[in-house]
Amino acid sequence: MSDCLFCRIAATEIPATVVHETSRTLAFRDIAPQAPTHVLVIPRDHHLDVGSLAAADPALLAELMTAAVAVADKEALTGGYRLLTNTGDDAGQTVSHAHVHVLGGQPLGPLG
Ligand code: AMP
Repeated sequence: MSDCLFCRIAATEIPATVVHETSRTLAFRDIAPQAPTHVLVIPRDHHLDVGSLAAADPALLAELMTAAVAVADKEALTGGYRLLTNTGDDAGQTVSHAHVHVLGGQPLGPLG
């Protein structure tokens, strides 16, 4: 989608610091990191959120999670890490393109 921020990053129309990529996924550093390591992992194809992605292409959802784990390994998050995905307004989703946050590098505390 031409007006989707993450589609434009996947198309290299908007710059990002890419840390990992596969033929169907892309991982890049969050522009406003909430932890020492904060990476976003997206499918290259446009899906509104992980629910839409799960319904349309469950194999790609599995690839997305595998890529997120690969990012945690590459970033040497040996102390642990959090994979998080916001869906919809109540969760505070701000970009309507499915993505997984990979957070780590310090104790993250409880959710909420
Ligand atoms: P969410 O709020 O779960 O939809 O996550 C969207 C994330 O995208 C936020 O953590 C933003 O900081 C991040 N973000 C927004 N614009 C950019 C950008 N141009 N490059 C990297 N991350 C971005």
